Amino acid sequence: MQNLDRRSFTALSGLAALGAAVGLPLRTARAAESPLGASRALRFAHFTDLHITPDRDSEPGMKKAFETAQADGIEMILTGGDLIMDSFETKREQVDREWALLHRLFAEHCKVPVEHCLGNHDILGWCRSKAEMKGDEPDFGYARALAELKLAERWRSFDRNGWHFIVLSSVEPDPNDECGYLARLVPEQLAWLEADLAKNTLPTVVVSHVPIVSVTAMMRGKGIARGQKSEISGGLLHLDSNAVHALFRNSGTVKLVLSGHMHLVDRCEADGVTYACSGAISGGWWKATKTYCDPCYGLVDLMSDGSFTLAVKPTGWTNA
Ligand SMILES: [Zn+2]
Repeated sequence: MQNLDRRSFTALSGLAALGAAVGLPLRTARAAESPLGASRALRFAHFTDLHITPDRDSEPGMKKAFETAQADGIEMILTGGDLIMDSFETKREQVDREWALLHRLFAEHCKVPVEHCLGNHDILGWCRSKAEMKGDEPDFGYARALAELKLAERWRSFDRNGWHFIVLSSVEPDPNDECGYLARLVPEQLAWLEADLAKNTLPTVVVSHVPIVSVTAMMRGKGIARGQKSEISGGLLHLDSNAVHALFRNSGTVKLVLSGHMHLVDRCEADGVTYACSGAISGGWWKATKTYCDPCYGLVDLMSDGSFTLAVKPTGWTNA
């Protein structure tokens, strides 16, 4: 089901068909009600930073993540990027193995529709010297991931169960460093986002790989102090947070903005917009860690009145 693209998914006629297709107890799920009487419109899992590779414990870890989230009654998985361990600076043969394992794991264990977002590690070969690429290969850059996932565009939006979803594409080349990258929306994407929000009236969830607003950006790694100033890398947090947040705030419809990239869990609210990082499915890249989060995912309930609940839950897999 991992290759179910947006068009074929949209072709499923409503929840009844979806329930029949994936065997979910939708009637039970739909009956859930908040104390104020709003019904649950959609329950989904935010799976970010999967970093799938045959060389670490991705296989048992992913199997456990799918089992745990699906036991929660999710109706969709929204990924947050960094789907494979790395293709940014990794040679082609290894990248092929990682995508092959991703497809097998989703085919074998994922029973719900998936909507993918792309991260920095999903971009093929931008670090040409390490990846041993020239840059003129037909699948160079974003082309490979878009083809693997049968996506037509890097950024897109869709509606589901009375909610609007916007999938952004955060990662752009660093003009001064072929092995670096910067998180921002190119003018074309920013204009698209503005137009998309202008015509939308539904409560909205946004997903980006790199956070647009994040409190863990302040405490990751060595921290942000540079002399008497604070500084956050443009590879760690969006450089255009101010402009993008202004669009979200002014829309009046954007409720929740989900990200990954940090391998940490955080949440904050600004002007009625909640920003959250859902940790990482791979925790510390499938290794035991005291610095990063344990393997986890975001469990989101979207309600018919435009409210939502978000919980971050352990997948149950650990590398002790
Ligand atoms: Zn990552």
